[in-house]
Amino acid sequence: MDVLEKAFELLSKYPLCDHCLGRQFALLGYSMENNVRGSALKVCLIMQANDLAKEKNVEGVKRLKILATNGFSKEAHETLRHIKKRVPKQGSECYLCEGKFGILDCLTEKSLAAIGDYEYTTFLVGIELPVKVEEREDELKAALTLSYGESIKHEFGRLYGKAIAQRTGKEAEYLTPDLVVVINPFQDKIRLQVNPIFVSGRYRKLVRDIPQSKWFCSDCHGRGCEKCGGTGKLYAESVEELSSRPLLEATEGEKTSFHASGREDIDARMLGTGRPFVIEISKPKKRFVDLKEIEAKINADAIGKVEVSHLRFVDRDNVRRLKKGEGSQKEYRLLAEFENDTSDFDLHLLEAKLSGALIKQQTPLRVLHRRADLIRERYIYKLKVKKVSLKRALMEIHCQGGLYVKELVSGDAGRTNPNVSDLLGNRAKTLKLDVLRVIMDE
Ligand SMILES: [Zn+2]
Ligand SMILES: [Zn+2]
Repeated sequence: MDVLEKAFELLSKYPLCDHCLGRQFALLGYSMENNVRGSALKVCLIMQANDLAKEKNVEGVKRLKILATNGFSKEAHETLRHIKKRVPKQGSECYLCEGKFGILDCLTEKSLAAIGDYEYTTFLVGIELPVKVEEREDELKAALTLSYGESIKHEFGRLYGKAIAQRTGKEAEYLTPDLVVVINPFQDKIRLQVNPIFVSGRYRKLVRDIPQSKWFCSDCHGRGCEKCGGTGKLYAESVEELSSRPLLEATEGEKTSFHASGREDIDARMLGTGRPFVIEISKPKKRFVDLKEIEAKINADAIGKVEVSHLRFVDRDNVRRLKKGEGSQKEYRLLAEFENDTSDFDLHLLEAKLSGALIKQQTPLRVLHRRADLIRERYIYKLKVKKVSLKRALMEIHCQGGLYVKELVSGDAGRTNPNVSDLLGNRAKTLKLDVLRVIMDE
């Protein structure tokens, strides 16, 4: 391909600015911008044409006129004036960009204004273009069999990314940017997308009767009614609210979502080293917050009820791993009560039969309204039983996550097998339940 001839062929068919002409040859030559390529091509073409004109070749003046009109070239104008030829009027606007590379500075300013005082480390520029603009360039490339070009979208993205990085000293990042600045040069519009932050930690629930997540009133579903005293909630507090509120305040975000690795029943405590969770904060204004300080604030506000630890920033992937981790191992301690007296032999039998047992468990009746009815298999690694009185025993259960332990005790009308009640022929129920450990396989 003769680059100069190709460039002239393009200009004789379409009015093109320096950016849009140079962009068709973007893969040729390094370390220069497309407008520099475009301008250099035009300069060479003017020199060639001027040479032809001096040799009295009519092609020379014809070419200069095309460069002056479709090439928007001041130099071509001046050359024509100098050799005393009629100077044609300036051409219309660039066929590909409609002159939008000319408002780069203006839209960069607008982008900075949109970012305002959001805190961020990394950003990404997204470009929105009318479909016809991209189609026009594709058709032009096909018609002239051009294969060294960059797309118009890519050039816009690159130039705005560079300009914003230069002005702010921040870095462009492709995978997980804090902010995405979506620029539409043809509509002169900026849209800011603020990506969420994720904070992981572990919580301990020191009292019973606090749900893990916000629990809406079953009558009004959050609107507020007589039953819930206008709060819209069935429980005044939850682990979710107690741990999220100080984070939301510090980051000035829009809202939070709470993700945990499984959940304990409302009437169960969560003790030991706590249960892993991740809090997602949408549209945070502040990202550079002190998690140690926030942790202290959460624990002071929720003293005696909920305690969080190990707060740290994580990425979105962590939420997915957390959900998968519901299958991790758990340790429970529960106080069981039997209908009839038990013997030491009974309690030893439970340890022997249930340690290492595979439990087949059909979805418990009490959660059937919100879970699919199916049979799960879960291992009990170890069961330890300690007698408290003739009718009461403490059990420590180390099992696979996802085992419903209250049903392991009651048998749930035969839906859990084997179970404590049937093994002893003595109906048993759970009085108190604590989660002692949640072991994540990292
Ligand atoms: Zn252009
Ligand atoms: Zn209500």
